[in-house]
Amino acid sequence: MIYGGKPVFSGIAIGKITVLKKDNQCVKRTHVENVEEELKRIDAAKAKAVAQLQELYQKAVQEVGESGAMIFEVHQMMLEDQDYLDSITNMISSQQINAEYAVAATGDNFAEMFAGMDDDYMKARAADVKDISERLISVLQGRDTSAQVEDEAAIIVAEDLAPSETVQLDKSKVLAFVTRFGSSNSHTAILARTMNIPALISVEYSGDIDGRMAIVDGFAGKLIVDPEEKVLKEYEERSRQEQEKRRLLQELKGKENVTKDGRRINIFANIGNVSDVASVLQNDAGGIGLFRSEFIYLEKDTFPTEEEQFQVYKTVAENMAGKKVIIRTLDIGADKQVDYFGLDKEENPAMGYRAIRICLKQTDIFKTQLRALFRASVYGTISIMYPMIISVQEVRQIKAIAEEVRKELAEEGIPFADVEQGIMIETPAAAMISDLLAREVDFFSIGTNDLTQYTLAIDRQNARLDDIYDSHHEAVLRMIRMVVENAHREGIWAGICGELGADTTLTEEFVNMGVDELSVTPSMVLPVRKIVREMQG
Ligand code: PEP
Ligand code: MG
Repeated sequence: MIYGGKPVFSGIAIGKITVLKKDNQCVKRTHVENVEEELKRIDAAKAKAVAQLQELYQKAVQEVGESGAMIFEVHQMMLEDQDYLDSITNMISSQQINAEYAVAATGDNFAEMFAGMDDDYMKARAADVKDISERLISVLQGRDTSAQVEDEAAIIVAEDLAPSETVQLDKSKVLAFVTRFGSSNSHTAILARTMNIPALISVEYSGDIDGRMAIVDGFAGKLIVDPEEKVLKEYEERSRQEQEKRRLLQELKGKENVTKDGRRINIFANIGNVSDVASVLQNDAGGIGLFRSEFIYLEKDTFPTEEEQFQVYKTVAENMAGKKVIIRTLDIGADKQVDYFGLDKEENPAMGYRAIRICLKQTDIFKTQLRALFRASVYGTISIMYPMIISVQEVRQIKAIAEEVRKELAEEGIPFADVEQGIMIETPAAAMISDLLAREVDFFSIGTNDLTQYTLAIDRQNARLDDIYDSHHEAVLRMIRMVVENAHREGIWAGICGELGADTTLTEEFVNMGVDELSVTPSMVLPVRKIVREMQG
Protein backbone atom coordinates (compact mmCIF):
# COMPACT_ATOMS: atom_id res chain seq x y z
CA MET A 1 0.00 0.00 0.00
CA ILE A 2 1.42 3.41 -0.98
CA TYR A 3 0.32 6.65 0.68
CA GLY A 4 1.34 10.06 -0.67
CA GLY A 5 2.48 12.93 1.55
CA LYS A 6 4.38 16.16 1.66
CA PRO A 7 8.08 15.79 2.46
CA VAL A 8 9.46 18.21 5.04
CA PHE A 9 12.85 16.56 5.14
CA SER A 10 14.37 14.28 2.56
CA GLY A 11 15.96 10.89 3.00
CA ILE A 12 14.96 7.24 3.02
CA ALA A 13 13.95 5.17 6.01
CA ILE A 14 13.14 1.48 6.11
CA GLY A 15 11.75 -0.24 9.18
CA LYS A 16 8.77 -1.13 11.29
CA ILE A 17 6.03 1.37 11.98
CA THR A 18 5.17 2.47 15.49
CA VAL A 19 1.88 4.32 15.62
CA LEU A 20 1.95 6.74 18.52
CA LYS A 21 -1.29 6.83 20.41
CA LYS A 22 -1.75 9.53 22.92
CA ASP A 23 -3.64 8.58 26.04
CA ASN A 24 -6.66 10.70 25.49
CA GLN A 25 -6.93 13.11 28.30
CA CYS A 26 -10.42 12.87 29.57
CA VAL A 27 -11.26 16.13 31.22
CA LYS A 28 -14.58 16.35 33.02
CA ARG A 29 -16.20 19.58 34.04
CA THR A 30 -16.86 19.61 37.75
CA HIS A 31 -18.23 22.20 40.10
CA VAL A 32 -15.82 23.34 42.82
CA GLU A 33 -16.64 24.95 46.14
CA ASN A 34 -13.19 26.24 46.91
CA VAL A 35 -12.20 28.56 44.06
CA GLU A 36 -9.11 29.76 45.91
CA GLU A 37 -7.87 26.20 46.11
CA GLU A 38 -8.28 25.73 42.30
CA LEU A 39 -6.41 28.98 41.63
CA LYS A 40 -3.57 27.76 43.82
CA ARG A 41 -3.50 24.44 41.93
CA ILE A 42 -3.15 26.35 38.66
CA ASP A 43 -0.28 28.39 40.06
CA ALA A 44 1.56 25.31 41.23
CA ALA A 45 0.91 23.39 38.00
CA LYS A 46 2.13 26.29 35.93
CA ALA A 47 5.37 26.50 37.92
CA LYS A 48 5.93 22.76 37.51
CA ALA A 49 5.16 22.86 33.77
CA VAL A 50 7.59 25.75 33.29
CA ALA A 51 10.27 23.77 35.11
CA GLN A 52 9.59 20.74 32.87
CA LEU A 53 9.91 22.93 29.80
CA GLN A 54 13.18 24.31 31.09
CA GLU A 55 14.47 20.74 31.38
CA LEU A 56 13.23 19.94 27.88
CA TYR A 57 14.96 23.06 26.62
CA GLN A 58 18.28 21.91 28.07
CA LYS A 59 17.82 18.45 26.55
CA ALA A 60 16.93 19.93 23.16
CA VAL A 61 19.93 22.29 23.18
CA GLN A 62 22.17 19.24 23.58
CA GLU A 63 20.40 17.28 20.88
CA VAL A 64 19.37 19.76 18.22
CA GLY A 65 21.07 23.02 19.14
CA GLU A 66 19.82 26.44 20.25
CA SER A 67 17.55 27.12 17.33
CA GLY A 68 15.74 23.81 17.52
CA ALA A 69 15.38 24.17 21.27
CA MET A 70 13.89 27.62 21.05
CA ILE A 71 10.36 26.24 20.84
CA PHE A 72 10.54 25.27 24.51
CA GLU A 73 11.37 28.83 25.44
CA VAL A 74 8.40 29.92 23.37
CA HIS A 75 6.26 27.39 25.24
CA GLN A 76 7.42 28.78 28.56
CA MET A 77 6.47 32.23 27.38
CA MET A 78 3.10 31.02 26.17
CA LEU A 79 2.47 29.39 29.54
CA GLU A 80 3.17 32.69 31.23
CA ASP A 81 1.11 34.72 28.78
CA GLN A 82 -1.24 36.93 30.75
CA ASP A 83 -4.21 36.56 28.36
CA TYR A 84 -3.94 32.80 28.49
CA LEU A 85 -3.70 32.73 32.29
CA ASP A 86 -6.46 35.32 32.74
CA SER A 87 -8.78 33.23 30.61
CA ILE A 88 -8.15 30.18 32.83
CA THR A 89 -8.48 31.99 36.16
CA ASN A 90 -11.56 33.93 35.02
CA MET A 91 -13.28 30.70 34.04
CA ILE A 92 -12.46 29.11 37.38
CA SER A 93 -13.68 32.13 39.36
CA SER A 94 -16.75 33.07 37.37
CA GLN A 95 -18.03 29.54 36.68
CA GLN A 96 -16.67 27.82 39.80
CA ILE A 97 -15.21 25.02 37.70
CA ASN A 98 -12.21 22.73 38.10
CA ALA A 99 -8.77 23.87 36.89
CA GLU A 100 -8.40 20.99 34.37
CA TYR A 101 -11.57 21.95 32.56
CA ALA A 102 -10.69 25.65 32.49
CA VAL A 103 -7.29 24.83 30.96
CA ALA A 104 -8.80 22.47 28.36
CA ALA A 105 -11.45 25.02 27.33
CA THR A 106 -8.93 27.87 27.18
CA GLY A 107 -6.52 25.71 25.17
CA ASP A 108 -9.27 24.88 22.66
CA ASN A 109 -10.35 28.52 22.36
CA PHE A 110 -6.83 29.80 21.82
CA ALA A 111 -5.99 27.00 19.36
CA GLU A 112 -9.12 27.82 17.37
CA MET A 113 -8.15 31.48 17.33
CA PHE A 114 -4.64 30.69 16.02
CA ALA A 115 -5.98 28.20 13.47
CA GLY A 116 -8.25 30.91 12.09
CA MET A 117 -5.42 33.34 11.40
CA ASP A 118 -4.23 34.06 7.86
CA ASP A 119 -0.56 33.88 8.62
CA ASP A 120 0.77 30.31 8.20
CA TYR A 121 3.26 30.80 10.99
CA MET A 122 0.53 31.87 13.44
CA LYS A 123 -1.73 29.03 12.25
CA ALA A 124 0.97 26.57 13.18
CA ARG A 125 0.97 27.96 16.74
CA ALA A 126 -2.40 26.25 17.36
CA ALA A 127 -0.47 22.99 17.93
CA ASP A 128 1.77 24.76 20.44
CA VAL A 129 -1.04 26.15 22.58
CA LYS A 130 -2.67 22.70 22.62
CA ASP A 131 0.65 21.22 23.63
CA ILE A 132 1.13 23.54 26.61
CA SER A 133 -2.49 23.05 27.70
CA GLU A 134 -2.11 19.27 27.61
CA ARG A 135 1.07 19.59 29.63
CA LEU A 136 -0.70 21.69 32.24
CA ILE A 137 -3.58 19.22 32.46
CA SER A 138 -1.16 16.31 32.81
CA VAL A 139 0.57 18.07 35.69
CA LEU A 140 -2.79 18.81 37.31
CA GLN A 141 -3.71 15.13 36.98
CA GLY A 142 -0.27 13.97 38.13
CA ARG A 143 0.51 12.12 34.87
CA ASP A 144 3.66 11.68 32.77
CA THR A 145 3.64 13.52 29.42
CA SER A 146 6.34 11.80 27.45
CA ALA A 147 5.45 9.78 24.37
CA GLN A 148 6.76 6.24 24.61
CA VAL A 149 8.49 4.36 21.83
CA GLU A 150 9.45 0.70 21.60
CA ASP A 151 13.03 -0.43 22.09
CA GLU A 152 13.67 -1.04 18.39
CA ALA A 153 14.21 1.95 16.09
CA ALA A 154 11.01 2.64 14.17
CA ILE A 155 9.17 4.84 11.73
CA ILE A 156 7.02 7.01 13.94
CA VAL A 157 3.51 7.51 12.62
CA ALA A 158 1.09 9.84 14.40
CA GLU A 159 -1.95 11.96 13.78
CA ASP A 160 0.13 14.95 14.79
CA LEU A 161 3.22 15.41 16.89
CA ALA A 162 3.69 18.18 19.39
CA PRO A 163 7.20 19.66 19.52
CA SER A 164 7.62 18.48 23.10
CA GLU A 165 6.75 14.93 22.08
CA THR A 166 9.15 15.09 19.17
CA VAL A 167 12.11 16.14 21.24
CA GLN A 168 11.34 13.67 24.02
CA LEU A 169 11.56 10.77 21.61
CA ASP A 170 14.88 8.99 21.82
CA LYS A 171 16.54 10.13 18.62
CA SER A 172 18.39 6.89 18.11
CA LYS A 173 15.04 5.10 18.03
CA VAL A 174 13.43 7.22 15.34
CA LEU A 175 13.96 6.35 11.69
CA ALA A 176 11.42 8.82 10.29
CA PHE A 177 8.36 10.88 11.17
CA VAL A 178 5.06 10.54 9.36
CA THR A 179 2.01 12.54 10.38
CA ARG A 180 -1.49 12.98 9.07
CA PHE A 181 -1.64 16.62 10.15
CA GLY A 182 0.94 19.32 10.83
CA SER A 183 2.41 21.93 8.53
CA SER A 184 5.84 22.46 7.10
CA ASN A 185 6.03 25.58 9.28
CA SER A 186 5.36 23.63 12.44
CA HIS A 187 8.14 23.27 14.91
CA THR A 188 7.89 19.52 14.63
CA ALA A 189 8.87 19.89 10.98
CA ILE A 190 11.68 22.23 11.98
CA LEU A 191 12.90 19.73 14.56
CA ALA A 192 12.71 16.88 12.06
CA ARG A 193 14.85 18.90 9.68
CA THR A 194 17.30 19.75 12.39
CA MET A 195 17.46 16.12 13.47
CA ASN A 196 18.26 15.09 9.90
CA ILE A 197 15.41 12.58 9.84
CA PRO A 198 13.14 11.97 6.83
CA ALA A 199 9.70 13.39 7.57
CA LEU A 200 6.37 13.44 5.78
CA ILE A 201 3.21 15.34 6.64
CA SER A 202 -0.35 15.21 5.23
CA VAL A 203 -0.22 11.43 4.87
CA GLU A 204 -3.74 9.98 4.75
CA TYR A 205 -2.83 6.56 6.09
CA SER A 206 -5.60 4.17 7.02
CA GLY A 207 -6.20 0.84 8.70
CA ASP A 208 -4.02 -0.69 11.36
CA ILE A 209 -0.48 -0.13 10.18
CA ASP A 210 1.14 -0.44 13.60
CA GLY A 211 4.06 -2.87 13.56
CA ARG A 212 4.05 -3.26 9.76
CA MET A 213 7.14 -3.07 7.62
CA ALA A 214 7.40 0.19 5.65
CA ILE A 215 9.54 2.54 3.59
CA VAL A 216 9.51 6.32 3.96
CA ASP A 217 10.65 8.03 0.80
CA GLY A 218 11.37 11.60 1.87
CA PHE A 219 12.33 12.58 -1.68
CA ALA A 220 9.18 11.54 -3.51
CA GLY A 221 6.87 11.97 -0.48
CA LYS A 222 5.74 8.34 -0.12
CA LEU A 223 4.95 5.98 2.71
CA ILE A 224 5.06 2.43 1.34
CA VAL A 225 3.55 -0.08 3.73
CA ASP A 226 4.35 -3.81 3.27
CA PRO A 227 6.54 -3.21 0.22
CA GLU A 228 7.16 -5.99 -2.28
CA GLU A 229 10.51 -7.72 -2.04
CA LYS A 230 11.76 -6.09 -5.24
CA VAL A 231 10.83 -2.56 -4.08
CA LEU A 232 12.38 -3.19 -0.71
CA LYS A 233 15.66 -4.27 -2.34
CA GLU A 234 15.70 -1.14 -4.52
CA TYR A 235 15.16 1.13 -1.55
CA GLU A 236 17.74 -0.69 0.54
CA GLU A 237 20.29 0.04 -2.16
CA ARG A 238 19.22 3.70 -2.43
CA SER A 239 19.30 4.09 1.32
CA ARG A 240 22.80 2.66 1.44
CA GLN A 241 23.96 5.12 -1.20
CA GLU A 242 22.25 8.02 0.57
CA GLN A 243 23.84 7.13 3.88
CA GLU A 244 27.25 6.92 2.32
CA LYS A 245 26.76 10.30 0.66
CA ARG A 246 25.58 11.86 3.90
CA ARG A 247 28.31 10.28 5.94
CA LEU A 248 30.93 11.72 3.67
CA LEU A 249 29.31 15.14 3.73
CA GLN A 250 28.80 15.12 7.50
CA GLU A 251 32.53 14.74 7.87
CA LEU A 252 32.84 18.16 6.30
CA LYS A 253 30.87 19.89 9.04
CA GLY A 254 32.97 22.28 11.05
CA LYS A 255 35.67 22.22 8.37
CA GLU A 256 36.85 25.34 6.57
CA ASN A 257 36.06 26.26 2.99
CA VAL A 258 39.66 26.31 1.96
CA THR A 259 41.44 24.95 -1.10
CA LYS A 260 44.54 22.81 -0.83
CA ASP A 261 46.66 25.86 -1.64
CA GLY A 262 45.03 27.97 1.05
CA ARG A 263 42.44 30.06 -0.81
CA ARG A 264 39.23 30.64 1.11
CA ILE A 265 35.63 31.34 0.20
CA ASN A 266 32.53 31.89 2.31
CA ILE A 267 29.69 29.44 1.78
CA PHE A 268 26.42 30.91 2.97
CA ALA A 269 22.80 29.82 2.53
CA ASN A 270 19.65 31.24 0.94
CA ILE A 271 16.40 31.28 2.90
CA GLY A 272 12.79 32.38 2.41
CA ASN A 273 11.53 32.34 5.97
CA VAL A 274 12.42 31.82 9.62
CA SER A 275 11.88 28.09 9.54
CA ASP A 276 14.65 27.65 6.97
CA VAL A 277 17.21 28.77 9.55
CA ALA A 278 17.24 25.27 11.05
CA SER A 279 18.57 23.74 7.86
CA VAL A 280 21.07 26.59 7.48
CA LEU A 281 22.56 25.61 10.83
CA GLN A 282 22.15 21.92 10.21
CA ASN A 283 24.20 22.22 7.03
CA ASP A 284 26.83 24.34 8.73
CA ALA A 285 26.53 27.40 6.48
CA GLY A 286 28.76 30.31 7.45
CA GLY A 287 25.84 32.71 7.36
CA ILE A 288 22.77 33.66 5.38
CA GLY A 289 23.68 35.22 2.04
CA LEU A 290 20.15 35.90 0.86
CA PHE A 291 17.00 36.15 2.91
CA ARG A 292 14.25 36.75 0.34
CA SER A 293 12.19 39.05 2.55
CA GLU A 294 9.34 39.30 0.06
CA PHE A 295 8.09 35.95 1.36
CA ILE A 296 6.97 37.78 4.49
CA TYR A 297 4.75 39.88 2.23
CA LEU A 298 3.64 36.95 0.08
CA GLU A 299 2.38 35.03 3.07
CA LYS A 300 0.02 37.81 4.11
CA ASP A 301 -3.21 39.48 3.00
CA THR A 302 -2.17 42.97 4.07
CA PHE A 303 1.13 44.82 4.45
CA PRO A 304 3.19 43.27 7.25
CA THR A 305 3.64 45.85 9.98
CA GLU A 306 7.01 47.16 11.14
CA GLU A 307 6.62 45.16 14.35
CA GLU A 308 5.81 41.91 12.52
CA GLN A 309 8.82 42.32 10.27
CA PHE A 310 11.05 43.31 13.17
CA GLN A 311 10.13 40.08 14.99
CA VAL A 312 11.04 37.99 11.94
CA TYR A 313 14.39 39.70 11.32
CA LYS A 314 15.24 39.66 15.02
CA THR A 315 14.47 35.93 15.29
CA VAL A 316 16.63 35.10 12.29
CA ALA A 317 19.49 37.28 13.54
CA GLU A 318 19.31 35.77 17.04
CA ASN A 319 19.10 32.21 15.77
CA MET A 320 22.17 32.77 13.65
CA ALA A 321 23.96 33.86 16.83
CA GLY A 322 26.21 36.54 15.40
CA LYS A 323 26.79 34.94 12.00
CA LYS A 324 26.09 37.28 9.11
CA VAL A 325 22.49 37.52 7.84
CA ILE A 326 22.05 39.38 4.55
CA ILE A 327 18.45 40.45 4.19
CA ARG A 328 17.29 41.54 0.78
CA THR A 329 14.64 44.23 0.77
CA LEU A 330 11.31 43.56 -0.84
CA ASP A 331 11.59 42.07 -4.34
CA ILE A 332 7.91 41.96 -5.23
CA GLY A 333 6.56 42.12 -8.78
CA ALA A 334 7.25 39.94 -11.84
CA ASP A 335 6.54 36.34 -10.79
CA LYS A 336 5.97 37.36 -7.15
CA GLN A 337 2.61 39.09 -7.13
CA VAL A 338 0.75 40.26 -4.06
CA ASP A 339 -2.87 41.39 -4.49
CA TYR A 340 -2.85 44.03 -1.78
CA PHE A 341 -0.08 45.97 -3.53
CA GLY A 342 -2.72 46.75 -6.17
CA LEU A 343 -0.19 46.56 -8.99
CA ASP A 344 -1.50 46.99 -12.53
CA LYS A 345 -1.24 44.18 -15.04
CA GLU A 346 1.82 44.81 -17.17
CA GLU A 347 2.98 43.67 -20.60
CA ASN A 348 6.46 42.81 -19.36
CA PRO A 349 6.31 42.32 -15.59
CA ALA A 350 9.91 41.07 -15.32
CA MET A 351 10.98 44.43 -16.69
CA GLY A 352 8.21 46.32 -14.97
CA TYR A 353 7.28 48.10 -11.79
CA ARG A 354 8.99 45.81 -9.30
CA ALA A 355 11.42 45.48 -6.40
CA ILE A 356 13.45 48.64 -5.68
CA ARG A 357 11.39 50.55 -8.25
CA ILE A 358 8.32 50.12 -6.04
CA CYS A 359 10.33 50.95 -2.92
CA LEU A 360 11.65 54.20 -4.38
CA LYS A 361 8.18 55.34 -5.48
CA GLN A 362 6.19 54.12 -2.48
CA THR A 363 8.72 55.10 0.12
CA ASP A 364 6.35 54.49 3.04
CA ILE A 365 6.51 50.74 2.30
CA PHE A 366 10.31 50.92 2.00
CA LYS A 367 10.78 52.93 5.18
CA THR A 368 8.67 50.53 7.21
CA GLN A 369 10.90 47.68 6.13
CA LEU A 370 14.11 49.63 6.72
CA ARG A 371 12.98 50.64 10.22
CA ALA A 372 12.31 46.98 11.05
CA LEU A 373 15.70 45.96 9.64
CA PHE A 374 17.70 48.62 11.48
CA ARG A 375 15.85 47.92 14.72
CA ALA A 376 16.65 44.20 14.39
CA SER A 377 20.30 44.93 13.63
CA VAL A 378 21.24 45.08 17.31
CA TYR A 379 20.27 41.42 17.80
CA GLY A 380 22.94 39.93 15.55
CA THR A 381 24.89 40.74 12.41
CA ILE A 382 22.49 42.02 9.79
CA SER A 383 23.44 43.32 6.33
CA ILE A 384 20.92 44.91 3.99
CA MET A 385 20.90 44.23 0.27
CA TYR A 386 18.91 46.04 -2.42
CA PRO A 387 17.61 44.21 -5.53
CA MET A 388 17.24 45.13 -9.23
CA ILE A 389 19.64 48.07 -9.23
CA ILE A 390 20.39 49.74 -12.56
CA SER A 391 22.00 53.08 -11.67
CA VAL A 392 24.24 55.03 -9.30
CA GLN A 393 21.45 57.52 -8.81
CA GLU A 394 19.14 54.80 -7.44
CA VAL A 395 21.78 53.76 -4.96
CA ARG A 396 22.22 57.34 -3.76
CA GLN A 397 18.47 57.69 -3.34
CA ILE A 398 18.37 54.47 -1.32
CA LYS A 399 21.24 55.60 0.87
CA ALA A 400 19.49 58.91 1.55
CA ILE A 401 16.30 57.12 2.62
CA ALA A 402 18.28 54.72 4.81
CA GLU A 403 19.98 57.71 6.39
CA GLU A 404 16.60 59.35 7.04
CA VAL A 405 15.39 56.19 8.75
CA ARG A 406 18.49 56.02 10.93
CA LYS A 407 18.04 59.66 11.90
CA GLU A 408 14.42 59.09 12.87
CA LEU A 409 15.33 56.06 14.96
CA ALA A 410 18.11 57.99 16.69
CA GLU A 411 15.69 60.82 17.51
CA GLU A 412 13.27 58.30 18.96
CA GLY A 413 16.07 56.82 21.05
CA ILE A 414 15.77 53.43 19.30
CA PRO A 415 19.10 51.60 19.04
CA PHE A 416 20.50 50.24 15.78
CA ALA A 417 23.86 48.85 14.74
CA ASP A 418 26.30 49.69 12.01
CA VAL A 419 24.83 47.84 9.06
CA GLU A 420 26.69 46.79 5.93
CA GLN A 421 24.66 47.86 2.87
CA GLY A 422 25.09 46.22 -0.52
CA ILE A 423 23.34 45.68 -3.80
CA MET A 424 22.41 42.81 -6.02
CA ILE A 425 24.05 42.79 -9.40
CA GLU A 426 21.31 41.19 -11.46
CA THR A 427 20.87 43.53 -14.40
CA PRO A 428 23.40 43.87 -17.22
CA ALA A 429 23.36 47.63 -16.53
CA ALA A 430 24.57 47.10 -12.98
CA ALA A 431 27.24 44.66 -14.14
CA MET A 432 28.51 47.10 -16.78
CA ILE A 433 28.78 50.01 -14.32
CA SER A 434 29.92 47.89 -11.40
CA ASP A 435 33.12 49.98 -11.23
CA LEU A 436 31.00 53.05 -10.39
CA LEU A 437 28.58 51.20 -8.14
CA ALA A 438 31.45 49.70 -6.16
CA ARG A 439 32.30 53.17 -4.84
CA GLU A 440 28.82 53.55 -3.39
CA VAL A 441 28.22 50.33 -1.46
CA ASP A 442 29.78 47.85 0.95
CA PHE A 443 29.33 44.70 -1.16
CA PHE A 444 27.90 43.10 -4.29
CA SER A 445 25.87 39.92 -4.53
CA ILE A 446 25.36 38.65 -8.04
CA GLY A 447 21.84 37.45 -8.80
CA THR A 448 22.59 35.11 -11.66
CA ASN A 449 18.95 34.07 -12.14
CA ASP A 450 17.89 37.52 -13.27
CA LEU A 451 21.27 38.45 -14.70
CA THR A 452 21.02 35.49 -17.07
CA GLN A 453 17.42 36.26 -18.01
CA TYR A 454 18.20 39.90 -18.84
CA THR A 455 21.54 39.21 -20.51
CA LEU A 456 20.20 36.46 -22.75
CA ALA A 457 16.79 38.12 -23.15
CA ILE A 458 15.16 34.86 -22.07
CA ASP A 459 12.21 34.95 -19.71
CA ARG A 460 13.27 32.68 -16.84
CA GLN A 461 9.60 31.69 -16.38
CA ASN A 462 9.13 30.47 -19.93
CA ALA A 463 9.37 26.67 -19.94
CA ARG A 464 9.61 26.58 -23.74
CA LEU A 465 12.92 28.40 -23.58
CA ASP A 466 14.42 26.26 -20.84
CA ASP A 467 16.76 24.53 -23.25
CA ILE A 468 18.37 27.78 -24.38
CA TYR A 469 18.46 29.45 -20.95
CA ASP A 470 22.17 28.76 -20.74
CA SER A 471 23.42 29.82 -17.35
CA HIS A 472 26.97 28.92 -18.38
CA HIS A 473 26.78 31.40 -21.26
CA GLU A 474 30.11 33.13 -21.70
CA ALA A 475 28.39 36.52 -21.53
CA VAL A 476 27.18 35.77 -18.01
CA LEU A 477 30.51 34.34 -16.88
CA ARG A 478 32.36 37.38 -18.25
CA MET A 479 30.04 39.70 -16.36
CA ILE A 480 30.61 37.79 -13.14
CA ARG A 481 34.36 38.05 -13.61
CA MET A 482 34.10 41.75 -14.35
CA VAL A 483 31.90 42.45 -11.33
CA VAL A 484 34.29 40.63 -8.99
CA GLU A 485 37.29 42.51 -10.38
CA ASN A 486 35.55 45.88 -10.07
CA ALA A 487 34.48 45.09 -6.53
CA HIS A 488 38.01 44.18 -5.49
CA ARG A 489 39.47 47.24 -7.15
CA GLU A 490 37.32 49.37 -4.82
CA GLY A 491 38.05 47.20 -1.81
CA ILE A 492 34.62 45.63 -1.40
CA TRP A 493 33.61 41.96 -1.53
CA ALA A 494 31.48 40.20 -4.14
CA GLY A 495 29.41 37.04 -3.87
CA ILE A 496 26.92 35.04 -5.91
CA CYS A 497 23.46 34.30 -4.55
CA GLY A 498 21.66 33.08 -7.69
CA GLU A 499 21.23 29.37 -8.39
CA LEU A 500 24.48 29.30 -10.33
CA GLY A 501 26.35 29.65 -7.04
CA ALA A 502 25.34 26.07 -6.20
CA ASP A 503 26.42 24.69 -9.58
CA THR A 504 29.29 22.47 -8.51
CA THR A 505 30.63 22.27 -12.06
CA LEU A 506 31.52 25.97 -11.73
CA THR A 507 32.77 26.07 -8.15
CA GLU A 508 36.42 25.88 -9.19
CA GLU A 509 35.96 28.63 -11.72
CA PHE A 510 34.30 30.90 -9.16
CA VAL A 511 37.07 30.34 -6.63
CA ASN A 512 39.64 31.06 -9.35
CA MET A 513 37.80 34.28 -10.24
CA GLY A 514 38.18 35.37 -6.63
CA VAL A 515 34.48 35.27 -5.75
CA ASP A 516 34.33 35.93 -2.00
CA GLU A 517 31.06 34.21 -1.15
CA LEU A 518 28.68 31.66 -2.62
CA SER A 519 25.18 31.64 -1.18
CA VAL A 520 23.35 28.43 -1.95
CA THR A 521 20.34 26.42 -0.91
CA PRO A 522 21.17 24.93 2.54
CA SER A 523 21.49 21.34 1.35
CA MET A 524 24.19 22.41 -1.15
CA VAL A 525 26.54 23.99 1.43
CA LEU A 526 28.45 20.78 2.14
CA PRO A 527 28.62 19.55 -1.49
CA VAL A 528 30.10 22.93 -2.49
CA ARG A 529 32.51 22.81 0.47
CA LYS A 530 33.63 19.38 -0.71
CA ILE A 531 34.60 20.72 -4.14
CA VAL A 532 36.44 23.69 -2.64
CA ARG A 533 38.44 21.50 -0.29
CA GLU A 534 39.39 19.14 -3.11
CA MET A 535 40.68 21.98 -5.31
CA GLN A 536 44.36 21.87 -6.13
CA GLY A 537 46.44 25.00 -6.61
C1 PEP B 1 18.60 36.20 -8.72
O1 PEP B 1 17.94 36.89 -9.49
O2 PEP B 1 19.59 35.54 -9.06
C2 PEP B 1 18.24 36.13 -7.29
C3 PEP B 1 19.04 35.59 -6.41
O3 PEP B 1 17.05 36.62 -6.90
P1 PEP B 1 15.62 35.95 -7.23
O4 PEP B 1 15.87 34.55 -7.72
O5 PEP B 1 14.85 36.00 -5.97
O6 PEP B 1 15.08 36.85 -8.29
MG1 MG C 1 16.55 38.36 -8.81
